[in-house]
Amino acid sequence: MYDLLIKGGRIYDGSGMPGYTGDVGIKDGKIVALGRLKENATRTLNVDGLAVAPGFIDPHTHLDAQLFWDPLGTSSCFHGVTSVVLGNCGLSLAPAKPENRDAVIKSFVRVEAISRRVLEEGIRWRWVSTAEYLNALDHRLGVNAAALIGHIAVRHYVMGEDAVERQATAEEIAAMRDLVRQGMEAGAVGFSTNQNPRHIREDKKPVASRLASDDELGALLDILGEMNSGVVQLSGGGADARGRIAYAAAMARRTGRPVIWQSISHSWSRPHHWREMLANTEQIFRDEGLPIYAMTQAKPFQNRYTLLDAQCFDEFPTWKSAMFNPPPVRKQMFADSAVRKKLRAEAIEDRSPSVFPRRWDVIFVDQVKLAKNKSCEHKSVEELAAAQEKDGLDWFLDISLEEDLETRFVHTNTQGDPEAVCEILKHPAVMIGQSDAGAHMGYDARFGYSTAFLGRWVRDHGIMSLEEAVNKLTFRVASIFGLSDRGLLRPGFAADIAVFDPATVNTLEPEYVRDLPANETRMIQRAAGVPHTIVNGEIVIENGAPTGLLPGRVLGPKPN
Ligand SMILES: [Zn+2]
Repeated sequence: MYDLLIKGGRIYDGSGMPGYTGDVGIKDGKIVALGRLKENATRTLNVDGLAVAPGFIDPHTHLDAQLFWDPLGTSSCFHGVTSVVLGNCGLSLAPAKPENRDAVIKSFVRVEAISRRVLEEGIRWRWVSTAEYLNALDHRLGVNAAALIGHIAVRHYVMGEDAVERQATAEEIAAMRDLVRQGMEAGAVGFSTNQNPRHIREDKKPVASRLASDDELGALLDILGEMNSGVVQLSGGGADARGRIAYAAAMARRTGRPVIWQSISHSWSRPHHWREMLANTEQIFRDEGLPIYAMTQAKPFQNRYTLLDAQCFDEFPTWKSAMFNPPPVRKQMFADSAVRKKLRAEAIEDRSPSVFPRRWDVIFVDQVKLAKNKSCEHKSVEELAAAQEKDGLDWFLDISLEEDLETRFVHTNTQGDPEAVCEILKHPAVMIGQSDAGAHMGYDARFGYSTAFLGRWVRDHGIMSLEEAVNKLTFRVASIFGLSDRGLLRPGFAADIAVFDPATVNTLEPEYVRDLPANETRMIQRAAGVPHTIVNGEIVIENGAPTGLLPGRVLGPKPN
């Protein structure tokens, strides 16, 4: 007698083998049989015509805090995701002594654009160590969670606020090494750092990990090498992409551990650069056999912002100083023609590589405040400016000033060119994810990377077989993170399962909901064609809605 029988679907088992029609029998949270099954079950799901696959493993989230008030990790669970990796980009909530908590929050607030009020109200701190954090988390989880140890927290724990001022001493590095070892022994799946030169705290100071020397980072990563366990996740590092790849290679050479570097993508300011990055990563992989992987996203990174809250100009000094001034001063700056000259030079005329697209034809008006401007919505700034024979920047600032800085714009930073995205997604050294679930919930929704990948790229663009696509979302990720009982449909493996319809699977348009702690608003995103998400043998999403069951657990390098 099975607890759950999934009957008549097409099984894509995660290995990349051809899909076949069959049943999956589940007992005590594990898969016990596959094939044409005769035994009865307490509950049977008839899934004729649907795909049955291992649950997707989201390798890059910032759900570290959200899982405490939202144990299902919405919206990830809507998209067939059954396990999420926390602690990316150097940011984790542990280890943290009471006196370091605010430093950790300061970093999360700015880098991941999660509001301070949400974090202050949503986190009930009841841990110091990584072990205690994982225990607190394990208590009440809908999806499974695996955690990386974040360099920023480790640095503040040992150095206090000196962590954002200076390099560490030998004694401090030794103390940090102990923390990393303890965290890994507690079940963390690796270590993350953040060297991204744009990543600053709320108080404009660089995030702590940016002050680490290469020797410090190497010494901390050596723990993973010594333990032969865990992955290294790098956000930034190296002067440019080539340098970043060399940096990732050096860390893989030093530790023998998989290194995920971030990230490879198409950008409008350098439309051919991704080819070079791909070739470079591939060469290191092939020539030296070093396990380095480039993270990419299946969803174009849409940035929605007003000039009240934009962070996309932080890379330009005059813009940054304007954005850090209070709105009245900011408005004066935007109105001043001498300042405008500088703003134009930095954001548009300068041709050096940037995240900002540097062109008005890919920047659109998303939402206006005043009824009289309604016809501007969904048109590009270039088109609107041309109609008034204005310069793009002048038009952009004029409407913002007219609407009290509340005009909302949208542009695609990365992955705007479908041809480039297809090539990137297909590459074997590329890891698909970067959902950033839990982060910047106010202006961007990439939670549905898995359904976007399966719908838009695999089905509509036909870039690879469904077998290969499922393999990329499951077994490969589980293998890299050392989750040895996940990512395959196989007897003895955990019953984490996504049931989806290959003909209709897709992401739906994001919606705004007011359900955060402190009564704040966020974007959520639902999926089409994903009727069931099953975690450890229990159905957590049925016909797109949560069942209320919370079968998730903390995953570590050892099977559980
Ligand atoms: Zn991140």
